[in-house]
Amino acid sequence: MRSSTCKGNNDQYLEEYHNETAALIDAERIKKEYGRNLKTLHCRTCGYWHLTGFTTSRVCMFCTDSGLFQKDIYSTRQEAETKAVSVGRQNRIKLYAYKCPHGSGWHLTRRKG
Ligand SMILES: [Zn+2]
Ligand SMILES: [Zn+2]
Repeated sequence: MRSSTCKGNNDQYLEEYHNETAALIDAERIKKEYGRNLKTLHCRTCGYWHLTGFTTSRVCMFCTDSGLFQKDIYSTRQEAETKAVSVGRQNRIKLYAYKCPHGSGWHLTRRKG
């Protein structure tokens, strides 16, 4: 069943499950059909279970952006620069790729000026 209270990262309403077993079964199905790895999550907002994806973006343990969110990690400079262009265009800002000082990969930063 679609949740009416909880949204995921992509701004879509999450699927809700009444117990963890149901969530796990669906996670297996999605893995087979779409090759996506999902994790079950017990939601404190609605009290049901959701599935969340962890494969698409990893976050750095050390670096935060100006909003104090942990920074996404990109494994290559090219990947980071491609993302910088598309996100920058969406938000009408200029983003730059830089190498993580802690060796986690590449991050994006917004430079003034
Ligand atoms: Zn929820
Ligand atoms: Zn970092």
